[in-house]
Amino acid sequence: MALIVQKFGGDALGDKGKGREADQSDLSGASLIVEKFRRVAQVVKRSRDEGHSVVAVLSAMGDTTNRLLRMAGALNPDSPARELDALMATGEMQSIALFAIALHQVGVPAMSFTGVQVGIRTDELFGRSRIREVNCDRLRTAIANGQVPIVAGFQGVSDNGDITTLGRGGSDISAVAVAAALHADACEFYKDVDGIFSTDPRIVPSALKIDRISYDEMLELASLGAGVLHSRSVEFAKNYGVPLHVRSFLHDEPGTYVIPEDKSMENVVVSGVVPKTTEARLTLEELPDVPGTAAKVFTGLADADISVDMIIQEEARGGRNSISFTVEKKDYGKALEISKAVVAELGGGQVTGDDTVAKVSAVGVGMKSHAGVAAKMFKALADANINIDMISTSEIKISVLIKEADAKRAVEVIHQAFEQEMIDAKAQAAAHRDMAEAGA
Ligand code: ASP
Ligand code: MG
Repeated sequence: MALIVQKFGGDALGDKGKGREADQSDLSGASLIVEKFRRVAQVVKRSRDEGHSVVAVLSAMGDTTNRLLRMAGALNPDSPARELDALMATGEMQSIALFAIALHQVGVPAMSFTGVQVGIRTDELFGRSRIREVNCDRLRTAIANGQVPIVAGFQGVSDNGDITTLGRGGSDISAVAVAAALHADACEFYKDVDGIFSTDPRIVPSALKIDRISYDEMLELASLGAGVLHSRSVEFAKNYGVPLHVRSFLHDEPGTYVIPEDKSMENVVVSGVVPKTTEARLTLEELPDVPGTAAKVFTGLADADISVDMIIQEEARGGRNSISFTVEKKDYGKALEISKAVVAELGGGQVTGDDTVAKVSAVGVGMKSHAGVAAKMFKALADANINIDMISTSEIKISVLIKEADAKRAVEVIHQAFEQEMIDAKAQAAAHRDMAEAGA
């Protein structure tokens, strides 16, 4: 018997997926919500019938948070942050009460809790608060009484007693924080996908479902925007050792476990291939090759709150060199402006840029122990006649910057280059687990 935190997101509770917004004000919306909540209630009921204790963490239904923000924006484009948090938090409050009602209907005693009621204490940075502490008293009492506590995700309370929110998509963080505080055995994320895939199955139909993945790989995937989970929730899980399980609410098959790295994972050279098309490149030419040049360039950007991702400095020729880097597309215009000013000040050459680039990354813990991964990846790109603009690496990631138009093809050929190894490693790990189970 285990204590399991189960997180249900907007897609499990609303109708976003079908291109219609679940809205309790219209009857067809209401019946769709009934259908969704009943299905999710069955998930909780099933775990309870198996003898587990469950704590549910919910986000707002479907597109609710966006709808609330649109209303506020229409009233006042400069809405005070405190009031926006108070408003957004109502989305999750609707979910938890409705879900408690749905659970009672199927004979599961349940009790809803807002962030304030639980005591999810945060700092006071409205719209991007960080959790400091989760008070477990009321949750523990409810569990001891045989009830399912249902916690509103995404929200907390500041020392002043004000309602705060954790940043968009933040209910993942709430779920892991609650799981960590309760020392839960697992934190399950119920999604409309079967788990984490080796790449986007819409790009590569043969993409593999990953059975088990390390926190570090998942963090890389999440920060590339492909991990399905909020990256801060993965960080939290890693720090507190909370095992995560990303799975489907449509069936009972296991999904992807996110767990500490183990030996068997080393066989997986590449577990995921991810395109990212939200970055732009800038190149500052003919900068003086003297100490302080790079510092000057990047201080200017940092002061404007622009974060830089990939960086390359070319070897100096004739006392001059060039620096290229990428920033988020939304910061491109501002970064150009700042760079031009800095280059003028330093007496450099031109500033050029390109916002039609893509970063394609391969992620895998096996890179640490296997040689030739980069070579294989670059060869796959070369064979497909795809030119590489920039390269960056970390211990478990290789990224290339290429033309945006080549992104899809690059993902295909890189995935193909490593696909057989992925299949073999997956089969081997499954065989190992079977053997371990048989031996146990
Ligand atoms: N409802 C919030 C949002 O849409 C939190 C979440 O979904 O995790 O950002
Ligand atoms: Mg949401």
